[in-house]
Formats: sequence, structure tokens, C-alpha cells
Amino acid sequence: MGSIFEIRRNDTVQVITGRDKSKQGKVLKLLTARDRVVVEGINMVKRSQRPNPSRNIKGGILEKESPIHISNIMLVCPECQKITRIGHRILDDGTRQRICRRCHSTLEK
Ligand SMILES: [Zn+2]
Repeated sequence: MGSIFEIRRNDTVQVITGRDKSKQGKVLKLLTARDRVVVEGINMVKRSQRPNPSRNIKGGILEKESPIHISNIMLVCPECQKITRIGHRILDDGTRQRICRRCHSTLEK
């Protein structure tokens, strides 16, 4: 099978290692080429923002999500609410569906 990028935008994922371990969030962005994702509220980094009055930007510390490697997250099944590996099912019409390996319900909405 190889490594197929199985996480999609708007999936809920849980961090399984590191500083944000066991936090959950929604996937905002996929960086497929780098095997990374940006997850809402996860891996926040502080950046200093320079004031720019002409664009109405106040200076200060800004917190922003930074990408996290997909090996550090797992999908949370919307059905059983547990972290799971992603399985697959091929429907009669040939459509490939992602399924939860725990409860076998579909992950497609
Ligand atoms: Zn499930």
C-alpha cells in the first residue's frame, strides 16, 4: 500500500506525542509534500508582530498554528469518538471509502 495521505481537511485528529499530546483539533490545512498538517489550536507558536499603523496592525505577540507531522497525530472517528487507524472499503460502484478500523463506520460525510 505504501504511505497514502489519508487525513483530509476538516477531519478531527488527536495528537499522540509531544507537547500537545492528547489534544484534539480540526485539520485546517494539508501540506502533503511535507507529510504535515495544520490543526486548529495545535502546535501553537508565538511570533512577534511588528506594529504597522497604516494597516491597523498592533504590535505584540501573535500565536499561530504551525504544521505538525502526520506521524504525531491520529484520526478521531466521528462515530465511536476514539482514535483509530484508517481502513478502506470499496463500494459496489467502485467508490473507495475510508472507514474506522474500530467500529467500521464510514469516515466520509
Ligand atoms: Zn469508529
